[in-house]
Amino acid sequence: MARPFRCPKCGSHDYAIVLTGCNLTNATLEEMLTWDEEQQDYVSGGSVVVDSEGMENEGATAVCAECEEDVTEAVRQYEASQEPATEA
Ligand SMILES: [Zn+2]
Repeated sequence: MARPFRCPKCGSHDYAIVLTGCNLTNATLEEMLTWDEEQQDYVSGGSVVVDSEGMENEGATAVCAECEEDVTEAVRQYEASQEPATEA
């Protein structure tokens, strides 16, 4: 059973990971388009990598979904604590 990540600032469990400087091999990307009534135009939610054969990236940043605080270090510690101690 996994424990959820908790933002050190606001306590939210939701966060986004932003990867920069990616080299993608044979990737599938998905772009979500939402109709904006006021602007009478589509708004792009950005491209999301659905699948790829290989990915190298220079840096990953984690951002809290609630307060938009940089939680990179907290997520790194959380992920390290989630690693199974020993496989039996
Ligand atoms: Zn937060």
